[in-house]
Amino acid sequence: MEKILVSACLLGQNCKYNGKNNENKAVIALKDRYEILPVCPECLGKLPIPRVPSERTADGTVISKNGEDLTDAFLSGAQKTLKIAKENGVRLAVLKERSPSCGSLSIYDGSFCGRVIDGSGVTAEMLMKNGICVLSEERLCELL
Ligand code: SF4
Repeated sequence: MEKILVSACLLGQNCKYNGKNNENKAVIALKDRYEILPVCPECLGKLPIPRVPSERTADGTVISKNGEDLTDAFLSGAQKTLKIAKENGVRLAVLKERSPSCGSLSIYDGSFCGRVIDGSGVTAEMLMKNGICVLSEERLCELL
């Protein structure tokens, strides 16, 4: 079976900033067609659960809601995720939309006002730059 990366929170793992998950039954059902490798880039970047929420700013840095620059942790998590992908011959990742790590088409704008803009999270961007197709859970129909 082809191996794919999937955001761990979409599989029901409580790795979100608030200690909860984004369980998505359609994503979980992909296990019938693919070998799923769960990844949480923010956990791989050694950020704790729970954690203060973060957003990506216009210059690409990642700032927590309390003003801490977490760009290095997010980059570290992205690099570890890319390593897992490369070691496993992964060509597709299904990642959570709007996350500052996993968002592929849209992210929050860095103002912590709930505004969404076009853009990608740090991990999604790194995977795409390395030739891996990133699909958000909101575009799963493109797989069917
Ligand atoms: Fe989910 Fe990705 Fe955020 Fe981890 S970093 S909680 S996998 S959206």
